[in-house]
Formats: sequence, C-alpha cells, structure tokens
Amino acid sequence: MLRLQVLELKGNIRVLCRVRPLLEKERTAGGEGHMPVKVTSEEALRVAAMDNKAEKDFEFDRVLAPDEGQDKLYDEVSALITSVLDGFNVAIMAYGQTGSGKTFTMEGPEGNPGVNLRALADLFKLAEERSAQFTTSFTASVLEIYNEQIYDLLVSGAQDGDKLDVKQGPDGMYVSGLKVEDVHNMGDVTSMIGRGKSNRSTFATNMNEHSSRSHLVLSVYVTCVSKMNGSTLRGKLHLIDLAGSERLSRTGAQGDRLKEAQAINKSLSALGDVIQALQQRNAHIPYRNSKLTRLLEDSLGGNSKCVMIVNVSPAVENVSETKCSLEFASRAR
Ligand code: ADP
Ligand code: MG
Repeated sequence: MLRLQVLELKGNIRVLCRVRPLLEKERTAGGEGHMPVKVTSEEALRVAAMDNKAEKDFEFDRVLAPDEGQDKLYDEVSALITSVLDGFNVAIMAYGQTGSGKTFTMEGPEGNPGVNLRALADLFKLAEERSAQFTTSFTASVLEIYNEQIYDLLVSGAQDGDKLDVKQGPDGMYVSGLKVEDVHNMGDVTSMIGRGKSNRSTFATNMNEHSSRSHLVLSVYVTCVSKMNGSTLRGKLHLIDLAGSERLSRTGAQGDRLKEAQAINKSLSALGDVIQALQQRNAHIPYRNSKLTRLLEDSLGGNSKCVMIVNVSPAVENVSETKCSLEFASRAR
C-alpha cells in the first residue's frame, strides 16, 4: 500500500539496469572468480566491497542479469510500444560507459536484434492488427548529437555548416530541416538505418570512438487516423543510444577531446537533472540546458512514457564507472 502511494507520486520514468556478461578477454584475464557486480534479485544488485569502500546495494524497477537475453529485455519495454500507437510520446534510452552494452541493447548484433528492430517490427504488426479501425502511417528520422550540435544522418555529407536546431511546433518538439522519411515495412527501416550508419561513418575517422562520443537518436513518428470518425492520433518513439558516460581521465585531455568530453558531460548531466526534476514533480524542468533534453521535452514529462536502461559491465576493471552509472540511475528513480 505504502509502496503504491510512493509510486503514484513519481513521474512516468522507469529505470532498468542491465548487467552484461563478462567478455571472453575478461574471462581469460581471470575475472570470473571475483566478479564485483552481483544481481541479487529481479530488482536489485550488489557491488562488492573494494578499495576500502563498503559493499553497496542498488534497487531499480528491474535488474536484468547477464544471462537474460534480448527477449527478456524487450519484454520490459514492449508495453510502451503499444502506447505509441495510442498517441503517446515514448523515449527508450541506453545509458552507460563505453563497452557496457548500450549498442548491444538498442541495436543488437546480427541475428540477435535489440530494442530498435523489435520495436519497429511490433509497430508494423500492431498497426496491421488495427487496420480495420485505423489507417496508420509511419515516418522516421536518424540524427546524431555531437558536441551539442545536431546532424542529420539521412543526409550524406552533413557538415558543420548544416547544424540543425530543435523547435517547438503545434505537434510538439521537432528538429527544423531534419529529413523525415516514410517507412512502410521492415525493409524500409533497415535500409534507412543502413544509410544512417554509413553517413555516420563517413563523418568519423574512428567509428568506435566517434560512436562513444555522440548520442544516436532513431525516431519514429506515427499517425493513426480513425476510419470511424476521421479523428487523428499522433505518437512518437525516440530510441536513443547515448554517448559513453565515462568520466574524462584526469590527465591528457586537451583540444577536441576535452571539448567532446565537456559536451557529453553537459548533456548527460542535463538529462539527469531533467529526469530528477520530473520524478520529484518540480514546477520547473530544466529542458533547455542541452540539445538532447530540449529534443526530448515532449517525450519525457507530462503525458509521455520513458524507460532508461542503465547498462553496466561486471568486470573488475570497470567497477568505479559501474558505480558511477548506478549512482546516476539511482538519482533518476
Ligand atoms: P557500448 O555500446 O555501451 O559501448 P557494446 O554494446 O558495444 O557497448 O558492448 C560491448 C561488448 O559487449 C560487445 O562486444 C557486445 O557484443 C558485448 N555485449 C554487451 N552486452 C551484451 C549482452 N547483454 N550479452 C552478450 N554480449 C554483450
Ligand atoms: Mg556503442
């Protein structure tokens, strides 16, 4: 009873934590014996005592253990996908240090798709099931936020001069000048994502490094028109692979590296501040502090739904970043 009351006082943001398995190289390095991160229940995990710091327990709406695969993860977010067709704005995002499993969670490897492709397949399937009552159409966009600038990944050769800005329109927040394409089926979606990826890679000399320093946002916009009375419902879904949350090492960062790190810091802490303000039901929500939060202004608060998936590594060498991610996620609850 008490717990229910507490939940009702909170915003619409669910926070999940996913612990990835140890990688082969971490295993052979002998990591298995003293894994510092243990999932203790479906809602809790424990970080072992280390470096004079006591063990610490963290609780989330759901904690996914290393052996819980893409199906289990998707089960936790699939209800939100249905909401998009009911006219809700939904954001699903993956947070965590580089190497913690964000891209695995959102994109997934070949043959083991993550949230993005499952969500889109579900949207098409649900629209088909409702086709007697609604005419549903979908458009989509792919953008990247890098150094607090928005780049359209559906336009090849996007340059510094092509900076885009977030605006507020009659149908909510939008990026002015962003290319939005019609998508009718999974073929359209995979081809669009493929083009986005290839444009992203021409952008960067080192794709891995680049992807860890920028936020990738795949957005799907849905329009459902009732066949009964012509009324229209609009929903949108943002699927976000966030920039790596790791802190800047104290030495060595200068020039571009420093600028990148500061931009990431700014937008991730702005995101944390917005989520915290929403969960505490504050009167003022500081959306304007970063491009990311501005873009998500109509997809985080009010009549919208959001899931943040905090990805962590179980490896000993990552334990301090793991703790930082868990602290960030705890503040978001
Ligand atoms: P990030 O995008 O956060 O930098 P990745 O998604 O690239 O991290 O994951 C890092 C490595 O860990 C990759 O080799 C990936 O295949 C593997 N990995 C991540 N999460 C899982 C998981 N849940 N199950 C199996 N392997 C995973
Ligand atoms: Mg990644």
